[in-house]
Parts: sequence; C-alpha cells; structure tokens
Amino acid sequence: MSDNLNTYLVLPHFNAGLLDPEDLEQLAALARKYNIPKTKITGAQRVALLGMEPEAMAALRTELNLPETPPHSSNRVHYVQACPGRTWCKFGHQDALELGERIKKIELDGPLPAKVKVGVSGCRFCCCESWMRDVGLAGESKGWRFSFGGNAAGRPRIGDLVAEGLSSDEAVALVTKTLNYYRSEAKFKSRSARFMERFGVEALKKAVLG
Ligand code: SF4
Repeated sequence: MSDNLNTYLVLPHFNAGLLDPEDLEQLAALARKYNIPKTKITGAQRVALLGMEPEAMAALRTELNLPETPPHSSNRVHYVQACPGRTWCKFGHQDALELGERIKKIELDGPLPAKVKVGVSGCRFCCCESWMRDVGLAGESKGWRFSFGGNAAGRPRIGDLVAEGLSSDEAVALVTKTLNYYRSEAKFKSRSARFMERFGVEALKKAVLG
C-alpha cells in the first residue's frame, strides 16, 4: 500500500467549485510542480489534492500561505454548496451562487452546536441536495423554499419545510434567525436533524416565523 494514501490537502480558496481558466492553469501548474497524482472536486465543491508526499504538502502550504489547520469559525456555517443557478443553468429560477455567498458570510450570535452544511439549488431539481442538508434552499419561480434539519450520512433525514416564496433578503434573514435559534436551543454536538426530530417543525416555525 502506498505511504501517501492518507496525505491530501483541501484548497480553501475555490468558491462553490467555480474555476476560471486562470484557476485551472494554477491547479495544473501546482499538480506538475508538486507531483500531485490526482485532484478531486469534493462533495462540498472544494478542490482536494490527493496522494501528496508529506514534504510536497508542506512546501505547497508554504507557497500558498495555507495554515496547518483550515481557519474555521464556529460562528459560521461549515460549508455552502451552490449550483450554477439561473446565471448559468437554463432550469434555474433563482441566483444560487449569489445566495450561497451571502449565507457563507452570515456571522451568528455565537458558536453552533454542531456542523451545519448548506445546499443552495437554483430550482426544484435540487442538484445541491438541498433536502439533505442542515439548511436547504431551492429556487422556485415565486422565490426561495427553505428547509431545515436534513442530513445524509449514516442516519439520513429529509429536511422540514419551514417557509416558501422568500426573497433573497428574506431567506438570509430567516436562515440567520433559524440558526441563532438552533444554537440557543440545541445540545452541544446535536446536528440539526436530531434536533428537529425532538423539537418538531411546528415549534420551530412558531419560534422563527411568529
Ligand atoms: S438545481 Fe436546477 S438550476 Fe441548479 S444546476 Fe440543477 S437544474 Fe440547474
């Protein structure tokens, strides 16, 4: 078995998997320079450099000025997946990339109890698996549909529908309010799916829509 099977590096600066020609050229140049055997777009739409030798990984970190552990603020969502939306996809009703950027920047009142993953899809086809994310947003002709408490992994759960017909401003405000409520009510390490099983969608709606 190869010694470098477990050495990989996730590059933090590619946004929602969007790569322009300069990004592709930079990636190709890095792959050649550091002898990177494979590059992978992850499920979270980030770029992972796989199978790196430890020395190459250290040198690349230095070249790109990357910290040893990724900077992470628990006052923010863990990651946001966003589809091309109406900017690039003929089915898109809403601008998923723009809303994804806004959700990523939400600064909450304090740390979240557990990871929160976000899926923003520009239409009901839900290419970003919005129903299976803690925060799910899907674009419809009348606005955004917001679901909360979805999960994939070992105990999958479909998120609960919280609201529909939201403008982008309303969606950002409601996601912020919901996450602040979740952080104040849920036990430490309780993912939104488990929290919603106990708490129930009607109680959540009363708290955040009332
Ligand atoms: S979710 Fe809809 S808008 Fe987004 S990529 Fe899929 S089909 Fe296109």
